[in-house]
Formats: sequence, C-alpha cells, structure tokens
Amino acid sequence: MEQGSCCFAARVLIAGCVTIYFMEPKPPTLQTLPSDELRAILWRFSDRYDLQMLVQSVRAVARGPVARLVANGVRNSHEWTEEKNSLLEVFDGSGISAVFLGPEYGGFIEGPKNLAMALVAFELSWVDAGAATFSLAGNLGLAPIHERGTPEQREHYMSLTAPAEGRAPIRAAFALTEPIPFVGVETGLLGGKLRVVSWKEGEEPVLHVDKRGRFITNMGFANVVTAAVDSADERIKGSCLVILEKGDQGIWDRGIPTRKLVHQLSSTRDPVFSLQVPASRIIGGYTVKDGVIIPNYSHGEVIEAVFRRTRVTVGLMTAAKLLSAVEPVIRYQRARFRGGEAGEPGSPRYDLGLQTKQDVLHRLVDVWATGEASAALGFEAARMFDALDPLEKAKDRIFAERKLVGRAAFKVLAKLGDEAIEFLNLSREAAPDEAKLAALRDDPLVQFALLDAQANVFCPACKLWNTGYGATMMREAVSLMGGYGVTEDCPGFLGHKWMDAQLEATYEGPEAVQRRQMSLTMTNPVFLALFETWIKDLRATASGRPESGACLLASAMQLWLWTLRHLQTATDANGQKLYQSNRQGVTFPLADALCWLLASRQQILDVINLESSAATNPAVAEELPGVLSFLISLCHVQAARAAGEVSRTCADLVFGYNSHPEWTEQACAACYGASELDELEGVIPGIASAARGTGTVHEDSQAHPVKAGPCPDVSALQPFLRLNGKLNSCLTGSRLAKDRAAVALSQVMIPEALDYPQ
Ligand SMILES: Cc1cc2nc3c(=O)[nH]c(=O)nc-3n(C[C@H](O)[C@H](O)[C@H](O)COP(=O)(O)OP(=O)(O)OC[C@H]3O[C@@H](n4cnc5c(N)ncnc54)[C@H](O)[C@@H]3O)c2cc1C
Repeated sequence: MEQGSCCFAARVLIAGCVTIYFMEPKPPTLQTLPSDELRAILWRFSDRYDLQMLVQSVRAVARGPVARLVANGVRNSHEWTEEKNSLLEVFDGSGISAVFLGPEYGGFIEGPKNLAMALVAFELSWVDAGAATFSLAGNLGLAPIHERGTPEQREHYMSLTAPAEGRAPIRAAFALTEPIPFVGVETGLLGGKLRVVSWKEGEEPVLHVDKRGRFITNMGFANVVTAAVDSADERIKGSCLVILEKGDQGIWDRGIPTRKLVHQLSSTRDPVFSLQVPASRIIGGYTVKDGVIIPNYSHGEVIEAVFRRTRVTVGLMTAAKLLSAVEPVIRYQRARFRGGEAGEPGSPRYDLGLQTKQDVLHRLVDVWATGEASAALGFEAARMFDALDPLEKAKDRIFAERKLVGRAAFKVLAKLGDEAIEFLNLSREAAPDEAKLAALRDDPLVQFALLDAQANVFCPACKLWNTGYGATMMREAVSLMGGYGVTEDCPGFLGHKWMDAQLEATYEGPEAVQRRQMSLTMTNPVFLALFETWIKDLRATASGRPESGACLLASAMQLWLWTLRHLQTATDANGQKLYQSNRQGVTFPLADALCWLLASRQQILDVINLESSAATNPAVAEELPGVLSFLISLCHVQAARAAGEVSRTCADLVFGYNSHPEWTEQACAACYGASELDELEGVIPGIASAARGTGTVHEDSQAHPVKAGPCPDVSALQPFLRLNGKLNSCLTGSRLAKDRAAVALSQVMIPEALDYPQ
C-alpha cells in the first residue's frame, strides 16, 4: 500500500484460496497542535476581531519581554526591581493596561470585558502567571470603583488610568486582607478603621483611614488603593471601601515585600496607611441621616460584586499553564534518548523516545484533557458574565425605578426564579403556549434570573476546580519532565507554573470560600432545573456523538443530583441533618463533585459546537478532522475521570453517615439464622447459599464470620445502587478513547523549538 494513501489498513479475508482485501478509510488523526483559528472557534470568539488582535498583542508581550525576564532569573528576587518595573510600560504600550477601560476612558473594547480579560490572563499565564497577576491586580484595584463607584468617581479614576503622554497613569491595588487575626478568608473580621476627623457645617466631612494590609499585590508601585475599612466612629455606620491616593495627608508606607515563593513578577507587600481623605472617597457614595454617614455599599457588597467577575480570570490562569505544558513535554519525551548509542535515527527509540511507553502518554493525555476542560469551563464563565452584565444593569435599573430594596427585592427575585423555571419548562414542551413563552423570553428580569443562577455556580466552580485540581495536574506535568521539571531550565517554566498554581488556588479567596459559595448557589431551584435539562441534552448529544462520553457524563450528573436530593433530607446515624451550612464534610465534597461535571460538560459542548461551527471554515479545514477526533477522545477521557470522582464522592456521602452494624444481639436479630435458612431452602431453592453470600447469616454455633458485622441493610438505597451500577457500565469505551488519544500524541507534529523565551 502506498504511503499517504487515504486507506490505512487492509482487512484480509481468506475464502478458500482467494484473498480479498477491504480498504478502510483512514481515520483522521491529529496532525499538529490546534491552531489559533481553531481555538478562537472552540472558545467562541472567532467573530470578535478585536479579541483576536488582543490575543496576538498580549502574546507578543508574554513570549517576548516577559519570557526573557523569567529566563534571566528575574523571579529570584522579592524586590520590585527596575527590570520588573519595565513591564509596566510594555503593558501600557501593548494595550494590556487599557483592556479594562471602556472606549470613553481610553480603552478600545466596546461592551463587557470579562472574556477580553480572561484572554489576557490566559496569554500571559501561558508564560508567567505573576505577569498576569500584576495586570489583573490593577484591574482588581479599580473594579470596586467600576462596579459600585459613583458616576463622578468612575469618571475621575477611569479616565486617569489609560496611559497618556505627560502624566503618570493610575496604578491601582486592592487592599482587603489584613495581618492576622483580621481579614483572610473571613472577610467580616475587619481591622481597618474609619473615623471622622472634622465635619464643618455645610461642608464635606474629612475622614481618617487606618488600614494595614497583608499580601497586597502591586504595592511596590501603586498610586491608588481601594481599601476595606470598618467604622470606628458612631458618626459612620457600618463598613465600606475607600479610595486612598498617594499624596493624601498622612502615612503611605508601602511596607515590606512579601517573601513569597510564587508569582515573582508581581509585587506583593504589607502596606500601612494612616491617611486623611474626604468622605467623597467612600466608594459608591453615602447619605447622611440624623448626623450619621451611611455608606451606600458595605465593603461586603462591593467585594461580592467585584470577586464574582475577577475570580473567573484567575481560573483561566491555571488552565493556560496546563495547555502550555503539552508542547514542552512532548518535545522532551521524543528527544529523551537521542544521541545515545542505542537508538539510530529512524528507530522508535530515536523518533519516539519515552513515547514508546504507554504510561507517559496516558499521563500527558490526562494533563491535556484537564487543560481543555478547565479552559472550556473558564471561558464559558467569562462569556456568561459578558452576557449577564447588561441584564444585571437592566435589573438594577428596573429595581431602582420600582424602589425595590431589602425584603421587597428578595421577594421579587424569588418570583423571578419561579418564572425562569416556567420558561425552562415551556421551552421544552412540544406545543408550548407561544405567547407566554415569548413574553418570558423577552423579559430581561426572567433572563437575568436564569443566567444569574448559572453564573453564581460557574464562577466559584471555575476558580475552585481550575486552580485546585489544576495545581495537582501541574505537578503531573512537572513529573513528566523528570529531574528537568524541577529546575529553572525546564522548558516552559513548568516548575514555576506548578508552584504558582497554588497561589491561584489561594488568592481572591481560597478553596473553602468557593466551596462555601457553591454549597449555597448549587441548590438554587433555578440552577437545579437547568441541570435537569442539561442531563437530557447530553443524552441527545450522545446519540449523535456516542464516543464523546456525553452519555456517561449524563449518568454521572444524574447520580450527583440524586445524591444532593437525598442528602438534603437525610440524617446521619445520630439523627442530625446532613445538608446544612456547618457540615462542610457534606456540602464541600458535593461542590467539588459538581465542578468535575460542569468542566467535563462544557468541554463536550465546546467540541460539539466546534464540529458544527468550523465545518465550513476554510481556515481550519485541513486540521479540523484530526483535531476534532482527538478532542472528542479527550472529552471521553475527562468524562470518565469526572464520573469516577462523582461516583466515589457520592457513594462515600450516601453510605458514610450510616453506622455499620456490629455483631450485637440487636443487629443479629436482622440476620438469617442458619437453621432457619435450611428450612426455607425447601421452599425457596438457593436461598441458603445466596444469603450466605451477603454475609448476614448467623450460624447456630453463635460464631460469626470474621468481619465488622452483618452487612448493612441498603434496601432503601437501591435507587442509588442502580444509578451507580449504570454509571459503571457507562464507562464502556473510555479506555479505548484514552488509547486513541495516546496514539495521537505520539504522532502529532510539533515545532522544532518552543517559541519562548525569545
Ligand atoms: C502573593 C499574594 C498576593 C495577594 N494579593 C492580595 C491583594 O492584592 N489584595 C488582598 O486583599 N489580598 C491579597 N492576598 C491575600 C489572599 O487573598 C489571602 O491570603 C487569601 O484570601 C487567604 O486568606 P489567609 O491567607 O488569611 O488564609 P486563612 O483565612 O488563614 O485560611 C487558611 C486555611 O483555612 C481555610 N479556612 C479559612 N476559613 C475557613 C472557613 N470558614 N471554612 C473552611 N475553611 C476555612 C482556608 O481555606 C485555608 O485553607 C494575596 C495573597 C498572596 C499570598
């Protein structure tokens, strides 16, 4: 058979002396790593020319100046050095500093910018997440003003942030965390204080701010800080965020650099502020009632609005690292034995090196599949917030017009939730009431309720899973490079990336914060109603693409949903309710399990969407069949991993809170007696051996089998066992998918050398 022919195998049938050859079509294989064009379709920004240009611009910075600094060992210092500082101007020049800003303030991207910022973080973190962090921390510093500032505050600070000739732009930092024992995960324990210094009749009050920060990013150079403080004065009510400026009267001490082991391209310090500021610096403004200043937003309200967006971006940082590890690991594996005596060019040892060993391929498949799933989840969350932003503004406007606040607002939101569920149900009916359906579809409040319920789960899920499990998988990537992985010379800076991932899992709220939020938001009836529709949709997807793992994932989702509902009403062996906020042992693992499902589902949805969207795109026509078949195999691999995690977690929770019977008189009363069984054997043949198989037989001698006790009675949990048993059988084919992906990895072409550092 000719090389390169469109047939790959000849199946031979021997019938008598006649040999018949059947030529099978060659299945598409992965030729090269996915191109930028294909990624843009996969992550659904191929219609956004502005974002594609942004990606190229940020990539030039990441793989140029940033990579050179890392390669030159600039990460070896905690100090904010001249070399690190030089990146500020590079970021300004490339447009990175202005991505956050609307065109009216000197930015260049119209509309919501969550996806844009996610792409910036992704590209920078591909090389160094510290560089990404200091770009993001500037946005984080401004975000309180952007989200909750008064129009005047927004106008003033945003317009001074864009780089311009003849003036230093605003460089912001965000100061929430304080020295122990104050703010960390528990954001309510505020040590920062706000007092009234002077308040003359008819004039604006002057306030004094005392704030000590711990681990504040950008403090080496920031000239504006948004700081969380609590009232220490009876003339101020509650807490708020205030804007501090370098140049305000008092102490602006940047503090000592944090001796961190990670993200060394960003500046982190423990600053001390003792400053006087006008009351107009309270973010979102204030009212005065009976001689008391009442901030319009508490610090909690401001940070909730900020973090729900910025955490998505952090999730994408770790996703980028996992995907960035693929190429260096392949190159290392292939070249591992070249130059030795044993392998001549053309031999498998020379050409494939370590890739002749299945395990290294399988492990790299896992790293790649995790990277795909986490990128899919993160970019979906970013797109979701882009869609949510205008709906949220519409909702805020309508609520303000109707003067809906407090309990009244809460009641309306609950009603909107019901309408959102009605909309979901109607939209799946074969013959729905079209007028009603259209009214609900066109109602921005209903659509807000629907999207908000999803975003409230997707944001913490992507921060939690991408960074937490991502850090674990970065270790796997590092281990695939052998000793090289833990040296500074490791191509792709994988060692740094592994350690850095732990910070991504920690800052902007570590895993406990995300789990806590998910344990509340994932039980929202709107979210659960959506979740049920997703299960049905995945089954439909599976009927067209059975090898994607969609059916397997649907079964895992069903098991998770059954478990949640069971735990919401079940009690433990002591009669204590299981699903409640202080039982993190129940709620947290369930939140973790959900993350696996959401990531895997999004990965499948994106690949299925790629198949239909890219089919007619000539730019990707050549690579599409191979990439598609490979990405589908990765989907199956990841779905199997997710299903395993869900099955293990759910079984542990469903059975783990029941007490195991021991060989007590009471427990044995429920056992079969041996002589009783022998009598029954005459009526029900086989019962004696079947019952002995369950281990709940009490022999007449009073002796019992050497084990903990009679087996627990699980008859009430049969539905769970059925679903879990089905899930196991749904794993059929998943290892074949892994084998296919592994073979593809051993054949894919990669460039001669990594394109950074340059
Ligand atoms: C390099 C770096 C940069 C940073 N940049 C900034 C910045 O710019 N601005 C800023 O304000 N902060 C910043 N931080 C602070 C960061 O956000 C906090 O470190 C983080 O939120 C965790 O707080 P903590 O360190 O006090 O941990 P702790 O609160 O002490 O938590 C310790 C452990 O206990 C767990 N835990 C705590 N409370 C609970 C609970 N209720 N339930 C279950 N588990 C719990 C946590 O999950 C964690 O595992 C930065 C930190 C670092 C290291």
